[in-house]
Order: sequence, then C-alpha cells, then structure tokens
Amino acid sequence: MASELAISSKLLSFEATENDRQDFQLARTQFLQEHGDEDQQTPEVFAAFISKFVNQRLPNHRANQSVMRAANVATLAANAAILAAADAAIVTLHAAAAASVNIVKNKNKSTTQVAPRTDPKYCLSCGPLKGHYSKGCWKKTRKTGHQDDATDANRMGGQA
Ligand SMILES: [Zn+2]
Repeated sequence: MASELAISSKLLSFEATENDRQDFQLARTQFLQEHGDEDQQTPEVFAAFISKFVNQRLPNHRANQSVMRAANVATLAANAAILAAADAAIVTLHAAAAASVNIVKNKNKSTTQVAPRTDPKYCLSCGPLKGHYSKGCWKKTRKTGHQDDATDANRMGGQA
C-alpha cells in the first residue's frame, strides 16, 4: 500500500500540467501492462520503468503529441476564421437590412409627409375663421352642396 502511494505521487509529479498528463498517460498504461502484479509495483521497479520511458519512449511520444496539438491549434484557427467570416456576413446582412428599412421609411415619408396647410381656415358650410377647413367640417354642420375643396381664396359660393 505504501509503495502504491509512492508510485501514485511520483506519477502525479509527472502530471502537473495538461500536456504532461497527456504525455504520461501512456507511461501509466504501459507501467501497469508490464508491472501489473502488486508485488511488482514497487518504487524501485517504477523508477527503473519511468527512467527507461523518459529516455526511450517519451521523446517520440512527445513529438507525436506536439503534432496532434499543432493540428488542434490549426483546427481552432480554421474554426476562428469560419466564425470571423460568419460574423462579417452577419454584419453585411445587418447593413443590408438597415438600408432596406431606410428605403421603406423614406418611401413612407415621401407619400405621407405633406407640407402643413398655411392658408386662412375657411369652411364652405360654416364660414371663414371657424377653426377648420371645409374638408374638416363635421357631418352635422355640413350643409347641402358642401364642397371639401372650398378655400378662403375660392369660396365656391359658400358662407361669406
Ligand atoms: Zn364647417
């Protein structure tokens, strides 16, 4: 039990970082394959194994791991490029959407925006300066022959 603890703590010292952990995962597996019997799991056996592993297998294993990590970095960079392109496309779409919204707004403006009327208020049925134009006269006060188009300048025969 004491020797198992010693081996575990030795392995832990080799696995301080994620990279180390990846590198020494193989060592852990191979040690247990070669020295799986409990009476073989002594610090001396482990020390011999680990020094052999570090000298003979680790450099090659590390190189393989580095290639894999580089490939991962390349994949991440490619993904980042795809995301950046997608972001750019979204920005373009937003700009296009905003532009078409403005076109619609401007169209609405041009059809609904009318210069406010400044001529003196005159109503054919009610007369001049009664607070409304002929067009705005109420149904109740409209007389027969009411003309919406009557103005102060052209009273069309309405109230003096
Ligand atoms: Zn009126």
